[in-house]
Amino acid sequence: MANMSLKKNPMPVQEPNVRNHNFEEVALGYTYEQAVDEANRCLNCKHKPCVAGCPVAIDIPAFIAKIREEDMEGAYEILSQSSSLPAVCGRVCPQETQCESKCVRGIKGEPVAIGRLERFVADYHMAHNTAAPAVPVQNGHKVAVIGAGPSGLTCAGDLAKAGYEVAIFEALHLAGGVLVYGIPEFRLPKKIVQKEIDNLKAIGVSVDTNMVIGKVLSIDELFEMGYEAVYIGTGAGLPRFMNIPGENLKGVYSANEFLTRVNLMKAYQDSSNTPIQHAKSVAVVGGGNVAMDAARCAKRLGAENVYIVYRRSEAEMPARLEEVEHAKEEGIIFHVLTNPTEILGDENGFVHGMKCVQMELGEPDASGRRRPIVKENSEFVLDVDCVVMSIGTSPNPLIRNTTKGLDTNSHGCIITKDDSGLTSREGVYAGGDAVTGAATVILAMGAGKHAAKAIDEYIQSKA
Ligand SMILES: Cc1cc2nc3c(=O)[nH]c(=O)nc-3n(C[C@H](O)[C@H](O)[C@H](O)COP(=O)(O)OP(=O)(O)OC[C@H]3O[C@@H](n4cnc5c(N)ncnc54)[C@H](O)[C@@H]3O)c2cc1C
Repeated sequence: MANMSLKKNPMPVQEPNVRNHNFEEVALGYTYEQAVDEANRCLNCKHKPCVAGCPVAIDIPAFIAKIREEDMEGAYEILSQSSSLPAVCGRVCPQETQCESKCVRGIKGEPVAIGRLERFVADYHMAHNTAAPAVPVQNGHKVAVIGAGPSGLTCAGDLAKAGYEVAIFEALHLAGGVLVYGIPEFRLPKKIVQKEIDNLKAIGVSVDTNMVIGKVLSIDELFEMGYEAVYIGTGAGLPRFMNIPGENLKGVYSANEFLTRVNLMKAYQDSSNTPIQHAKSVAVVGGGNVAMDAARCAKRLGAENVYIVYRRSEAEMPARLEEVEHAKEEGIIFHVLTNPTEILGDENGFVHGMKCVQMELGEPDASGRRRPIVKENSEFVLDVDCVVMSIGTSPNPLIRNTTKGLDTNSHGCIITKDDSGLTSREGVYAGGDAVTGAATVILAMGAGKHAAKAIDEYIQSKA
């Protein structure tokens, strides 16, 4: 029977004052009964508006119908036709601005909890299906993928399923990209990412870690080694700074460095050798998901005061609503309409404060958001001993500086001709953050999927 409740089934979560002292997952996932009950809220609309809101066009009403029928493996099959990382996307996709924003149930109440249902199905599959995936028949062609983030992993998976011998070359010692070095354990447990990587290896994909392409091997050398096409999924991992005085003081981190120390190098565990500052008061500058993740990590590391310092108002914050809400519940203090002008140091070169000014909003700028303007005589000092800069990233220049004929734009992003991901070099494709600049997991995955199809067509057309 249809469930006409105006509200989503709430997600069970760890209590804020418990979870802000541990790194375990915050959202605990639906039970079987909650998932079936939520699935009954879906009206199975004929015109499927939610599908148009999904960047990889998952047949959402069809997978939810399977949950209603309690055919969870059937639901997983439908999900996996379009998404190679449903357990990841169910946790981190901004559903509120994508599929759920188009849900008809959202007109008079809350939309169907599509993301939570996606997560439930993927987790159910992981817990109940232990069969090894079928190994595809090889077609004798070789493709190299640079970067083991969601974009590279998706491209590699689709090509391997089509019979290609695929080798992923990853700069870090662990595969997963931002999913392992950026997004914290409490939002995305690393065992889930590892499971997806193990599945890829089981179907024959080789993952070569500690391989910085552009240093150890060049793209030209990959072609000389017999790879017939190359996919670049190297992300946008180069942090930006504000260029204000004091950014080189001890206790100032880029969000990428801070999060890599905490997540990839497990600095929060006593057994880890990775140093991290256990500060008393931390300012995180920025208002995106990355800033929320850094602030929530700082709190869990034991900081008494953690401030988000953001130059526009909360309405303009790019972070997901859920992340902002979770951060506030955990005790993060928001200084909006505030901009740092200088980081202050003590006589030993350690941070001991941050000078800020207050802002007000003027006319919209090129991004369509109202431009922040400095308020006169509004300077004040925030008492902090650690600052984390989280104001954006861009692609690392290594690949573009070591690859002849690869066109990039003024932001350092690789230029592709169309959705196929084809670059200015024959046989070289690119996608994900390396092309778009910092974006989302689902868009990076979608680009990997399109490129896999185009690479297959390219190689088959030459065979
Ligand atoms: C802290 C944080 C939180 C985020 N939260 C969300 C969220 O909640 N929801 C969401 O949708 N998106 C989120 N994002 C954005 C999302 O993670 C990215 O858009 C996505 O990971 C991009 O995927 P990618 O495969 O293009 O690049 P990446 O994930 O960056 O992977 C690129 C990989 O390439 C490797 N590499 C780089 N250069 C080389 C080289 N020269 N040779 C070999 N390997 C190389 C890198 O080490 C890395 O492993 C977040 C990002 C961050 C940083």
